[in-house]
Amino acid sequence: MKAARWYEAKDIRVETIDEPVIAPGKIKIKVEWTGICGSDLHEYAAGPIFVPVQEPHYVSQDKAPIVMGHEFSGQVTEVGEGVTKVQPGDPVVVEPILSCGECPACKKGKYNLCEHLGFHGLSGGGGGFSEYTMVDEHMVHKMPEGLSYEQGALVEPAAVALHAVRLSKLKPGDKAAVFGAGPIGLLVIEALRAAGASEIYAVELSPERAAKAKELGAREVINPKEEQAVERLRELSGGGVDVSFEVTGVPAVLPQAIDSTSFEGETIIVSIWESEASVQPNNIVLQERTVKGIIAYRDIFPAVMKLMQQGYFQAEKLVTKRIHLDDVVSEGFEALMKEKSQVKILVKSQPE
Ligand SMILES: [Zn+2]
Ligand SMILES: [Zn+2]
Repeated sequence: MKAARWYEAKDIRVETIDEPVIAPGKIKIKVEWTGICGSDLHEYAAGPIFVPVQEPHYVSQDKAPIVMGHEFSGQVTEVGEGVTKVQPGDPVVVEPILSCGECPACKKGKYNLCEHLGFHGLSGGGGGFSEYTMVDEHMVHKMPEGLSYEQGALVEPAAVALHAVRLSKLKPGDKAAVFGAGPIGLLVIEALRAAGASEIYAVELSPERAAKAKELGAREVINPKEEQAVERLRELSGGGVDVSFEVTGVPAVLPQAIDSTSFEGETIIVSIWESEASVQPNNIVLQERTVKGIIAYRDIFPAVMKLMQQGYFQAEKLVTKRIHLDDVVSEGFEALMKEKSQVKILVKSQPE
């Protein structure tokens, strides 16, 4: 079968590898659509970040070259001995978290905080940029009627956004700001709408992304090149937002996200960072603010799919391009690095 494998930064190859062979407790999936994620881009541009290179990953027991792709939907083709959750033919999405099941966080059910955290499609053992892949039974969620495979490929990134909003202190009627309107930032805007935020503001440089943010529910989008984002947000919200979300990973943005909140405000850091970011702690201390990080998601895929059935996180609004696996590097990774107008690019793994 065909698969796109990461060898090193700037070296992802579409090549022929062996199909996975079914084993007890496993589920084999024919992949339908797979999204390209910001973290895939980081691995492509400047990796390895999550990709195990020297030592095999603790859970997958695999290392580079690894199959990429962690945002995907597909159809079950085979189930291993003992599997009861799904049957061949079922449409599924994969919750790609690899966790050890044994560390203190895993024992408390907080598997996204596992000390050996990894992702199917980033940490070895297969992935979505492939015709077939195989995962453990607990990683699979059956898709409800009425959700398309395209929609299924958006469940994973939408789960990040919904988890971020759920872990924030936001209450219905509160005001929020989202710094960065890339795919996750846009999904955070939608999750905020689902949570009942009364006013949502975004801060974004790209005009295309700013337009998308408005379409998805941002009341006003501030261009930080043209206006002082913090001042403008404090003015618009009447003294600061209740919760801000940092979704850029740009060091200079973190203090802005903090300063845009009101007293007792909260900043949720959603980004993964390539470098340090400095803040003046007094800006947190003197206003009794909170800064909190979130990683991935847990126990939330079914809720995301229910919200999708209600019309949130719609593929038609977020997918800007559909390509074939053969072109994943030139039309996918390279396009996302160059064109800020792209939101989500979906990749078809099956031969045409
Ligand atoms: Zn992702
Ligand atoms: Zn663990």
